[in-house]
Amino acid sequence: MNRLLVMPVWRSLFKHCLMIGLLFAGTLPLLSEGKPLHVLITVDTESYTEGNPKQQIWGRVGGGGEHGIGKIMDILEAHGVKGTFYINVYEAERHGEETIAQVIKAVHKRGHDVQLHTHPHHKYGIHKLTRADLARQQEILLWGKHFIERHTGTAVIAHRAGAFAANLDTIEALRRIGVKVDASLSSLSEESHLAREVGEARNRPFVLNGILELPITYYVQGRVATYQFKRTLDIESTSLREFEDVIRQAQVANVPAVNVLMHSFSFVRHGRPDIELEERFDRFLSFLGTQHGVVVSTTTQFYGHWSSRIAPSSEPEQFVPATGWWLSYLRAVEEADNGWKNAVVAVALPALMILVIGVLLHRRYSKTTRNR
Ligand SMILES: [Zn+2]
Repeated sequence: MNRLLVMPVWRSLFKHCLMIGLLFAGTLPLLSEGKPLHVLITVDTESYTEGNPKQQIWGRVGGGGEHGIGKIMDILEAHGVKGTFYINVYEAERHGEETIAQVIKAVHKRGHDVQLHTHPHHKYGIHKLTRADLARQQEILLWGKHFIERHTGTAVIAHRAGAFAANLDTIEALRRIGVKVDASLSSLSEESHLAREVGEARNRPFVLNGILELPITYYVQGRVATYQFKRTLDIESTSLREFEDVIRQAQVANVPAVNVLMHSFSFVRHGRPDIELEERFDRFLSFLGTQHGVVVSTTTQFYGHWSSRIAPSSEPEQFVPATGWWLSYLRAVEEADNGWKNAVVAVALPALMILVIGVLLHRRYSKTTRNR
């Protein structure tokens, strides 16, 4: 073969190999670190105190179709991922065991995580778990754990208290009955006794008296002097831009997991399906799918990952993502037709700008007339 023809082929091959090599080298730090950010989509599954599971759990409302847990699972599965459903089993006392068993089986059958949510009032006459002493909490939690296990045949490993009303007794009760994970700590909730008992705002998973605590992730949307305006990472109240910002910050801070909050009735607003919110959830999952080093996991999957790796030798620094006023303003604009506060904030900036321009023009006009 002609030597002059062979040389350009070799040169071209070498160039392409070099380019592919450089491309892979760019992704190596992410691959070798082996510490992905787990995003946990957690769904508190319940009807209201006087509610109806058909509406608040299955989302069968006016406008046709279902917009409850079935829709949430559809969207998750369309992205090839699963969620964690914290199911309030105590309302079986009001709606019947079979009604709640159907919910448990529907979620379990589709391969999503079924875990325990405690609003014990229908069964035990108290609204908050924290109103019970340790022995009573243990009884309540064990009853709920057995209820779920009866219908799934799978051990319950995680718990979230209704209204985030958990305390150190809850942690001890969970430890005694063999539940490994708690996801009740919410630094922004008045009812989260645990948050106060732990003593500082928490966002990173940590081990508390032998239980893995997965706090509900919060972020700072703005500051005035030293005061921070905080918000929970919640499908209903966090904009897509804020989600993206918090996820990126969590990756930079090497946070192992963030807990995203939603409810079985998140897609139902004023008795109507909220299609825009369903689309935002879908876009959020699309965004997560494009992020290297980010995985959507169930709580069981994350716990498996956490247990198999060596615990950190020192407590990592606190993670406090901040999204800033501009993203808060853009969220208010997007939600302007949803509540008077958003509408006021949305018109405040243009109104202020018009006022400033008006004052400037007026001063300029007065100056020119004076100079005449
Ligand atoms: Zn709840």
